[in-house]
Amino acid sequence: MKKSLRNKCITFLLLICLFVPSMTVRAQERVFPHDDDLVIVIDPGHGGTDTGTQGGRIQERFMNLITAQALVNRLNMYEGVTVYMTRSDNDTTLSLTERAKYAESVEADFVFSIHYNACVLHDRFGIETYTSRVAPYNAYGYQFGDLLMKKYYEEYGIFPRGVKTRKGLRTEGDYYTIISANIYREIPAVIIEHCFADGVVDAVHTMSDDQFRAYGETDADAIAEFFGLRSTILGIDYSGYSDNLVYADPSSFNDATYEDRTNPETVAISVTSIDETSNTVTIHVEGSDSDGMMLYYALSTDGGWTWERPEIWPGANALTGTYDPSFDLTLTFEDGYRPSIVIKGYNRYDGYLKSNQITFIDKFDSMYVPLYREN
Ligand SMILES: [Zn+2]
Repeated sequence: MKKSLRNKCITFLLLICLFVPSMTVRAQERVFPHDDDLVIVIDPGHGGTDTGTQGGRIQERFMNLITAQALVNRLNMYEGVTVYMTRSDNDTTLSLTERAKYAESVEADFVFSIHYNACVLHDRFGIETYTSRVAPYNAYGYQFGDLLMKKYYEEYGIFPRGVKTRKGLRTEGDYYTIISANIYREIPAVIIEHCFADGVVDAVHTMSDDQFRAYGETDADAIAEFFGLRSTILGIDYSGYSDNLVYADPSSFNDATYEDRTNPETVAISVTSIDETSNTVTIHVEGSDSDGMMLYYALSTDGGWTWERPEIWPGANALTGTYDPSFDLTLTFEDGYRPSIVIKGYNRYDGYLKSNQITFIDKFDSMYVPLYREN
């Protein structure tokens, strides 16, 4: 008995010895090859008559420039890199092709286009990065964007919406001209949509110029880490091992950047329990999106006339593509309220599906369990 236990212990220790090294060696190769004189173009989006989104504290063209200038200042503190900007004031109007031509004229190795996001209902939140659909550019933007979003989540708690792609309307190439016009010139380009300038949730992240500057510095450090740069002035050395790099395949399209053009397949709700003394109902929510993931959900208690702002779908991680297949939601109602509950489940590309509806036939009343139907 004792002997076999000892043997088991030895086997267990051996297993630990065998597995621990392979678990800790997670570092991935830097996917973008470059030499010692890297040329980077920073492109503050919009400018001049093109103001960008108006929904924030200030117009997007101003926010982009503040971030871009802080980015350039910090990136210049790293060695082995020359940095250019497509515009350095807010009055210059530049087309997207002009920006790509400029990148070509300075022999850029990489273009980073700086933006802030907005949406029609002003209810979205988080950071996202767009990369090309075309190999090997797809992998470059994927590895960079993944790294960037991890930093944003750790440093600011800004929710990652993932590294995305968008197909052109009439081509298999890229929708966004700043990407397609650059890769046409064999220059990789990514778009950073820092967070939502017009949203309630991200409002705390877009209150001051200092925040826009801080994001520029974080971008610079992410860029430096992606390329493996070092800075004597800053005392930072990214030239070696990095735990932050995701595996990216330069020879093909990376599935994590797949554009989900369909809505989720299922969003369904059912009643788990009702407590009449506290007017509380617990709803079981299920959702699935087989070619994407669930990212947010929104609740309506009046049959879909009005919606609460979207929340993060439990377990949703846009960098790994994982989410909880179901969760419970506990709701408390005032006496006399007769809820009609519907849930909207959103995927990573803002496609959504409405659930079935749970309609209470009786009003909530702390005296009895109200009747309801699930339709
Ligand atoms: Zn923009």
